[in-house]
Amino acid sequence: MTEKILTARFEKPDSYRLSSYVEDGGYEALKKALSKTPDEIIDIVKAAGLRGRGGAGFPAGVKWSFVPKESEKPKYLCVNGDEGEPGTFKDRYIMELDPHAIIEGAAIASYAFGAHVAYIYIRGEFKLPIERVENALAEARQAGFLGANILDSGYDLDIWVHPGAGAYVCGEETALIESNEGHRGMPRIKPPFPAIVGLFGGPTVVNNIETLSYVPHIINKGPEWFAAMGPEKNGGTKLFGVSGHVKRPGLYELRMGTPLRKIIYEVCGGMRGDKELKAVIPGGSSTPILTPGEIDVNMDYDSLAKIGTMFGSGAIIVIEEGTCIPRLAARLAKFYAHESCGQCTPCREGVPWIAKILDRVENGMGLPGDLDQVLKICDNIQGKTICPLGDACAMPIRAMIVKFRAEFERHVEEGGCPFGPTPTPWDSES
Ligand code: SF4
Repeated sequence: MTEKILTARFEKPDSYRLSSYVEDGGYEALKKALSKTPDEIIDIVKAAGLRGRGGAGFPAGVKWSFVPKESEKPKYLCVNGDEGEPGTFKDRYIMELDPHAIIEGAAIASYAFGAHVAYIYIRGEFKLPIERVENALAEARQAGFLGANILDSGYDLDIWVHPGAGAYVCGEETALIESNEGHRGMPRIKPPFPAIVGLFGGPTVVNNIETLSYVPHIINKGPEWFAAMGPEKNGGTKLFGVSGHVKRPGLYELRMGTPLRKIIYEVCGGMRGDKELKAVIPGGSSTPILTPGEIDVNMDYDSLAKIGTMFGSGAIIVIEEGTCIPRLAARLAKFYAHESCGQCTPCREGVPWIAKILDRVENGMGLPGDLDQVLKICDNIQGKTICPLGDACAMPIRAMIVKFRAEFERHVEEGGCPFGPTPTPWDSES
C-alpha cells in the first residue's frame, strides 16, 4: 500500500550526503534535463500532472509556463520550506534526510523557466533542516552541480538558504517573497502575480519542497509513470503526516487517492484504545473537518473538494470520541488570531473576535446568539481578504459549528464543557 519514491532513501545512513545521493543515481535527472530544452522539461512536468504539494494543488508545469521567456529583470525560484500549517510535518523530513533531491528538483525547475538564482526559504525554527540543506548546497557547488556552467552545459545557477522568522503567513507565496526580500512578511495584493512581478520585482515561481523533490523522479522515469500512480489529474504519491488519536501516527508515503478510511484503520492501525472516531481534519488545520460518515473519500484534491473540504498539505488530524470540538475550535481561532498580519480589516478584527467568542463558549460563558454571531463573522471574512489566512480560520470554524452545533449549544446551555477537561490533538498532554 505504501509507495517509496520520496521516502525511498530516508532510512539509509548518510542519506543526506552527496556521495550517498550520487550512489543512488542522484543528479542523473539534472544531466538529462540539461540535455533537453527548457520547453521540453515544462512539457514533461505538465504531462505528469504534478500538482503543488504545499496546499493549493496548482499544476507545477503550468506555473512554470506562466513565467515570461524574455524579462528585463532576473527571474527567481523560491522554494517554500516554511511548513507552518498546524498538523504538517513532511517537508522537514525531506530537508533533513534527502536535501539533494530538493536541490536537484530546484535546479531542473530553475533551468525550465530560466532562473539563475533560487532561494530555499526554511522556517527559522528548523535548525537541523537548515543545517542539512546548507551543507548539501555546499557539497553540490563543490561537485559542479551548482554554480557557473553546470556540468559543462553553459547554464549557471546558485541556490541559497533564507531562514524565516517563524510567521505562519510567510507560507503564503507573496508574504514569503516579502520576507525573502528582508521585509515583514505581509502578503501582496494579486495581480500582479509572482510569475510576472515577484522577488525583487522579477518573475518568480514559488514551489513547495515536496513538489520539487518529485521532479528528478519524473525526469528519470517519465510523466506516464507518475500520472498512472493516482486518479486522473491527481498523479503520483503524497507524503501524509498523520497525527492525533490513531495507534500509529507518523509520516506515510501513499498513492494519491488512497481512501481516508484505509489510512486511519489500516495504515495507522485504527484508533488508539479502539475508541470511536469522532472527526478528521483531512489536510492541515485550515481544511474543513469531516465527520465519521464522511471518511469514505479518496485522499486527492478533487475528491475532497467534492465533499466541501480540501486536500491541503495532506496533514491528517484524527480525533477520537470524547474530544471537545468547541475547545478545538477555540484553540484554532486563537492560533489564527495570533498569526494575522493585520493588513485587512476582516481578518485583523474578525479572527480575534471569533477567538474571543469561542473562548467564552468553551469556558461556559457563552451567550445565546454567539454561534450565529461567529457564523456571521465567518461570512464577512471568507473571500474578502488579501490572502487565504482569513479563509483558513473562517472555513474550518464554520464547518465545526455546522457539523457539531449541538455540542457548542450544550456548552452555552450547560455553562461549560460536558466532557470535562479533554485534551485535543493540539494539546501537549494529548
Ligand atoms: Fe494579513 Fe489576514 Fe489579510 Fe492575510 S488575510 S493579508 S494575514 S490580514
